[in-house]
Amino acid sequence: MPERIDYLLIGGGMASANCAAELRKRDSDGTIMLAGREPEPPYERPPLSKEYMRGEAKREDAYVNEPSWYEDNNVDLRAGTNVMSLDTEGRTAKLQGGEEVSFEKALIATGANVNILRVDGANLDRIHYLRAFGNSDNIRADAEKADRVVLVGGSYIGCEVAASLKANGTDCAIVMMEDVALSRTFGEEAGRYFQGVLESHGIEFHGGETLTAFEGDDHATAVVTESGKTVAGDCVVVGAGVKPDTMLAGKAGLELDEDMGGILCDETLQTSVEGIYAAGDVCSYDSKVHGRRLRVEHWDVAMQQGIHAGRVMADDPAPYEVVPYFFSDLADWASLEYVGPAFEWDQEVWRGDADSGEFAVFYLKDGRVAGCLSVERSEDLQVARELLEKGVDVSDKTAELGDTGSDLGSLAA
Ligand SMILES: Cc1cc2nc3c(=O)[nH]c(=O)nc-3n(C[C@H](O)[C@H](O)[C@H](O)COP(=O)(O)OP(=O)(O)OC[C@H]3O[C@@H](n4cnc5c(N)ncnc54)[C@H](O)[C@@H]3O)c2cc1C
Repeated sequence: MPERIDYLLIGGGMASANCAAELRKRDSDGTIMLAGREPEPPYERPPLSKEYMRGEAKREDAYVNEPSWYEDNNVDLRAGTNVMSLDTEGRTAKLQGGEEVSFEKALIATGANVNILRVDGANLDRIHYLRAFGNSDNIRADAEKADRVVLVGGSYIGCEVAASLKANGTDCAIVMMEDVALSRTFGEEAGRYFQGVLESHGIEFHGGETLTAFEGDDHATAVVTESGKTVAGDCVVVGAGVKPDTMLAGKAGLELDEDMGGILCDETLQTSVEGIYAAGDVCSYDSKVHGRRLRVEHWDVAMQQGIHAGRVMADDPAPYEVVPYFFSDLADWASLEYVGPAFEWDQEVWRGDADSGEFAVFYLKDGRVAGCLSVERSEDLQVARELLEKGVDVSDKTAELGDTGSDLGSLAA
């Protein structure tokens, strides 16, 4: 008979590592195995486009737990180990190398994979995607040799990487489908603020452009767009979003979310099979707070959901009700925080203005807060979180929301 484990955690990222810690807090004797495909212990990805890419932080700084934590806490960490298949009825899993383990409960936290752009020239050298340490190392090494780097994508990965590379002295140009950087999430006005910050540091933008090819002989030297524009650069970094990694879950017959991608979960993060849970980028759950299904790719959500899954797996079931939180830094030129997500909104209320570099934007839908962006106004974000959670109708309170002199605390009370 294969070894029987109380908790099998599949995936070696933020969600699994936090689940392991929570389980150990709640169940001092339970056996825990954490199996992750990457050779490293679980680490945080945000530094890969920020301080780690700029050479300001070391690898170890990004580890979720000290490498010794796993042994000290009797967690069987299997780094560099793919979970090849899962039998949800028999409660067994096959690990890379042929070992079979049997388990009581499992977490699937397999994260996401980058979207690859399969256009002409896609196989050229010096075209990079960013998800893991090695990608960040390679981008930095190629950027150091490059006269100019082209970033494809105007979302946070493209903007953060451009800021980091430019801060390190390499010229950058961003080619993007949207007219204004970061506007898909934050709207055009806020997007113009962030784009302006990047432009003021010399980053060039080509908005409203769809990539059709990479050009070059052996390595990329330019990208070509549908409108016929050629943007030169001797290294390319693509930030074109991610797809949740549902390969294992799909093969195991777990229900998947056709609309949002991800593994379909109930409000407690349990999948369609009892005793099997999902968390992080791969988890599509019923959000009681939003009254809809939700899947987001945020560092904080992976952490919170990992902790929550640990709680539920240790027999303390409860709905997951944390409002998703996101942050991003553009070198040390600007940083933002956000709660939401507001998929759509019909009104923006600005508190403070972009010129001052300190503002919050409340995104309202039918008079209720659907999201909030903060630049140097974290205290407003906290209020927005409460307003969103409680579903407070603020349609006749927009003057207070927009007045930096008003105390917002009473609105959420
Ligand atoms: C460069 C970068 C910068 C980011 N910056 C920010 C930021 O500023 N703010 C923010 O909120 N979010 C940011 N994010 C997003 C955030 O890092 C993710 O939301 C978070 O890492 C998700 O954690 P996870 O545990 O769900 O998945 P992951 O971190 O993707 O971990 C999943 C792991 O499981 C492994 N795996 C997959 N299948 C198997 C299998 N069958 N067997 C074993 N292992 C498997 C994968 O290889 C991976 O190592 C950033 C992401 C990147 C890439």
